[in-house]
Amino acid sequence: SSHHRIVIAGGGTAGLSVAASLLRESPQLDVAVIEPSDDHYYQPGWTLVGGGDMRAEDTHRREADVMPDKATWIKDAVAGFAPDDNRVDLASGAGVSYDFLVVALGLQIDWDAIDGLPETLGANGVTSNYRYDLAPYTHELARGLGNGANALFTQPAMPIKCAGAPQKALYLTADTLRRRGVQANVAFYNQGGAMFGVPAYARALDDIIAGYGATPHFKHDLVAVDGPAQQAVFETDDGRVTRDFDMLHVVPPQSAPDVIKNSPLAGDGGWVSVDKNRLTHTRYDNVYALGDCTDTPNAKTMAAVRRQFPVLVGELRTALGERAQRREYDGYGACPLTVAHGKVLLAEFRYGGEVVSSFPLDPRVARRIHWPLKSRGFPWMYWHVMLNGRDWHWPEPKPRPDLTA
Ligand code: FAD
Repeated sequence: SSHHRIVIAGGGTAGLSVAASLLRESPQLDVAVIEPSDDHYYQPGWTLVGGGDMRAEDTHRREADVMPDKATWIKDAVAGFAPDDNRVDLASGAGVSYDFLVVALGLQIDWDAIDGLPETLGANGVTSNYRYDLAPYTHELARGLGNGANALFTQPAMPIKCAGAPQKALYLTADTLRRRGVQANVAFYNQGGAMFGVPAYARALDDIIAGYGATPHFKHDLVAVDGPAQQAVFETDDGRVTRDFDMLHVVPPQSAPDVIKNSPLAGDGGWVSVDKNRLTHTRYDNVYALGDCTDTPNAKTMAAVRRQFPVLVGELRTALGERAQRREYDGYGACPLTVAHGKVLLAEFRYGGEVVSSFPLDPRVARRIHWPLKSRGFPWMYWHVMLNGRDWHWPEPKPRPDLTA
């Protein structure tokens, strides 16, 4: 068993941003990161990979290359949390004790919640941009479909990471088909009742999907896939319906990692229970959490993590007795909706579905100038700013009461 002043569970977007930020301010601090994977991904890039607009390799780095030099990397998986004993148990059987714990395990994609899905992923026209190895198959399928083909895109119950990603896959595929001059039947099967959680953006997206001649079906929840027969089964208010497909882009239901669900850290729904403005645990004073694994009611996005990590680090450094700037997290999240190759609707919002905007432009309008931001600006910012633990204040998103329902 080992002991560290600060233990960070998870070396993804959130865990590494916190580790890098702490070590920037206090290089001698004893920070350990528990992360089993050799690989680290820029997941927002997978939408572009699925559209044929980015190479998969460009979304990947070796974990060893992004881990802060001064952090201790514990290459193991968390198997249990024992916060009453200030201890984390590892898959290898060892234990790690801590003075302070930061939980950043992300979320779990429940692939096997859909009957027949795991065995047909990557074959029979069944794909998902939610996996690094499958995103290129999405574009391959879009390049191969012919006239009259059925291309189906699904969206599960919320919450999921990047709520806009299921329809981004649809838009880029539909645009590829349009450019190829192919007349296919493109349809969106959404478990929810609207195109987006924020009404101002949902209305804009109603027009965008209609512009492709694609049909949105609401209250349709994918429950089973028959790969070889190329059929998808949806649960609806009127019972089950079956649809034929040539291409099926699936986004499965998502939940808190089981190791969190089964721990004393979990609150409602199994997510880590934290104060939504301070990211401190609601019951354990020396525990903090951020990113996709918490119960904060923001959109689960990297954009949210960008605004969360300086807040968490401020709280933690204050608890360590250091002088630190403390701020509150306002629920900021953003979703750059790739509505066509070369065009992005940059949806930004915060707690309460309040519309905010970083630029003095109408954020409901898809723009060409936002494409290089999504395809080059944001990835650069991720690798060079966030993963170096640098806080980024500009431009400051401003409330848009005129657009808030
Ligand atoms: P992750 O980055 O997923 O990191 C979790 C880490 O925990 C991983 O490294 C994992 O290996 C590790 N881990 C898991 N289990 C254990 C364990 N038991 N023990 C130890 N470590 C463990 N966000 C945006 O802002 N804009 C976008 O356009 C956007 N598009 C997206 C498109 C797709 C297809 C996807 C999949 C995501 C997208 N996101 C987007 C969301 C964004 O990637 C996530 O919100 C962000 O990565 C969350 O960071 P995290 O650290 O909480 O989780």
